Amino acid sequence: MRADRVEWEQRLLSDDGPLREIADTVQGPFHVMFPERIVENIGRFQKSFVDNDVAGVIYYGKKANKSACVIEACAAAGAGVDVASVGELGAALRGGIDGADLMVTGPVKSDELLMAAAANDALIAIDSPAELARLIELSRRRLPATTARIVLRVLPKDSTSRFGMTDTELDNIWDQLDTTSVRLEGYSFHLSGYDAVPRAELAAALVDRCLKARVNGHPADIISIGGGFSVSYIASELWHSFLDNVNPSWFHGGRAPRPDSYYPYHCAVAGPQMLTAILEHNGLGDRLRKAGIRLAIEPGRALLDRAGSTVFRVQGVKTREAQHIPYDILTVDGSSLSLSEQWFDTEYLPDPVLWPERIGSITPTCVGGATCLESDMLSWRRIPLPRAAVVGDLLVYPNTAGYQMDSNESEFHELPVPPKVVLRNSADGRQFQWTREPDPRDVRSNATPAASLNLS
Ligand SMILES: *Cc1c(COP(=O)(O)O)cnc(C)c1O
Repeated sequence: MRADRVEWEQRLLSDDGPLREIADTVQGPFHVMFPERIVENIGRFQKSFVDNDVAGVIYYGKKANKSACVIEACAAAGAGVDVASVGELGAALRGGIDGADLMVTGPVKSDELLMAAAANDALIAIDSPAELARLIELSRRRLPATTARIVLRVLPKDSTSRFGMTDTELDNIWDQLDTTSVRLEGYSFHLSGYDAVPRAELAAALVDRCLKARVNGHPADIISIGGGFSVSYIASELWHSFLDNVNPSWFHGGRAPRPDSYYPYHCAVAGPQMLTAILEHNGLGDRLRKAGIRLAIEPGRALLDRAGSTVFRVQGVKTREAQHIPYDILTVDGSSLSLSEQWFDTEYLPDPVLWPERIGSITPTCVGGATCLESDMLSWRRIPLPRAAVVGDLLVYPNTAGYQMDSNESEFHELPVPPKVVLRNSADGRQFQWTREPDPRDVRSNATPAASLNLS
């Protein structure tokens, strides 16, 4: 299924684009990032808030991509960052995000993370009464001059999530909220699924909780509705025709994922439009405005929509048959660790582009990685490529910045982790300049942790 292309992707894939030069220089698989697109994506969410006259705050859900260029784009566009570890917190600060623009989420956070969060004036999403007690204890003992900023994470009704607090826990929290060591700024949640309505309904219910908190003497003026803003990868007709017709025989070895395991690759109301739908549902925007409450969102995937691609080189081609029909199996010079969807019993479905793009005879093709694992397939599906691939061709998987490229990467088989190449427009906007980003692990090991976390 061909993914729609935006302008920078077309330029990347054009014959006179930078792909060959980068591939020859890097000599292995690589990821391309285009941070300008992230700035645009943030701008679209900001516009939805402005159009609906609601005060909004955006925190980028950092686990979706480790690249430093994402943090820089957030800093440039006025977005904060949602982090869940000391490593992510340090990377966000080094990338130019103010401590006060950080949200710290994650279940039962370590003492070190709570301390670093409080010392940097970050907003801390408290996951349980016990965690709150520990934060208060740490503040009294170790950071007596600070008042930690917190929101309370809510366990949605009927949810089996292991995160957040029950209604009873929230109702009984008041005695525990010592206002000299913590400041209750509001409530947060994060829902699975990609529907606007449950998010709007839970946010509306939390307006009442904020008003109640104010009666109890807390500022409570923010509600964070988490992430889960969907991304539309493929046109509606292609996606629905796939769902209607998909058949295990389309996959190498008959290894088709369960039909309900796929990410919804087409979405009619995606990203910023989904935010607008949430704000418009039952007048949520009006209620927030009247109550003087800011709405925070924590999008990960949606801020990275069409902000990156992953490039492999074809290292070998072999031909097999299924039901007497020949098809090719490619081996590329990387692995499915750089395409995380493959590790969740499902498949990444936007078609890779065989580059250079030429018309030939359509060739059903699966793609395997350069490891000794039978299961290391980047595409089990026989993709109808527009020509037969040959050694040295490039295979470009589109729209991989959100979760695909680096969530699962490791130096398996002692293969190096693919570098990230950052593309920026030249002054006239016609040419790309590219730079190779330092490996985040090297940056981390060179930083002096205590100082960079404001704890020295
Ligand atoms: C993962 C996560 C996000 C980001 O989710 P996306 O689906 O990428 O938007 C935001 N908030 C929390 C608490 C998360 O765990």
